[in-house]
Amino acid sequence: MLEVRDLQVRYGAIRAVHGVSLEAADGELVALLGANGAGKSSTLMCIAGALKAAGGSIRLGAEDVTGASPEAKVRKGVATVPETRDVFPDLTVEENLTLGAYIRRADTNGVREDREKMLTLFPRLAERSAQPAGTLSGGEQQMLVIARAMMSRPKLLLLDEPSLGLAPVVVDQIFEMIAALKQSGLTILLVEQNVAKALSVADRAYVMRLGAIAASGSAAEIGAATDLSALYLGG
Ligand code: ATP
Repeated sequence: MLEVRDLQVRYGAIRAVHGVSLEAADGELVALLGANGAGKSSTLMCIAGALKAAGGSIRLGAEDVTGASPEAKVRKGVATVPETRDVFPDLTVEENLTLGAYIRRADTNGVREDREKMLTLFPRLAERSAQPAGTLSGGEQQMLVIARAMMSRPKLLLLDEPSLGLAPVVVDQIFEMIAALKQSGLTILLVEQNVAKALSVADRAYVMRLGAIAASGSAAEIGAATDLSALYLGG
């Protein structure tokens, strides 16, 4: 599904990502872990097309999509939920969902069906479907941006720190949502600071340090790695 080879991301003279290679197979949930500033978001946003790669390649199936725009990536089945968690605050939950399907807005019936599907899958959103999105709690807004991303019918979902700033009980709900999406067969790349939660839903994980991959393995292997804190702290 996703194959990233020797990816490089630069901000001017700063080399944020140098030589990252990672893969996600069809239906796999892959976690990208690492300390603040390790380069996780830069990697994710480059895969999303929001940042230009300074080197390396990104393939989706057989297709090289390294230079594709964010919109082209959406059309090829990649949906992204950035860390910023932006809803359209004055629009209702339902209207926010509809906007998530802008690339197939001519398909009115399909969009309506998918909206209903999302509201059935996530009852908390259904209860608030007519409410302005700006009045939702942080956790509900996170649910909404994930459900909105699903409205483009992605094959690959890129999630950047969905648990950020949320209370533990709400984090549990978000991870239940992510587990439910994985159950539906979606491929997911998950950037997370919450290592325990990420490993509880992931099949495999990569640990980034200083812009490169420092370790990789099954979620169980990474969870059991005695040097995990050392990898984080730079030991
Ligand atoms: P966090 O969990 O804090 O978001 P991260 O692992 O996602 O960390 P990135 O946000 O990808 O890390 O940042 C990687 C490096 O690139 C850091 O050194 C950061 O300071 C730098 N960086 C990120 N964005 C920019 C930018 N817009 N301009 C300059 N440097 C940046």
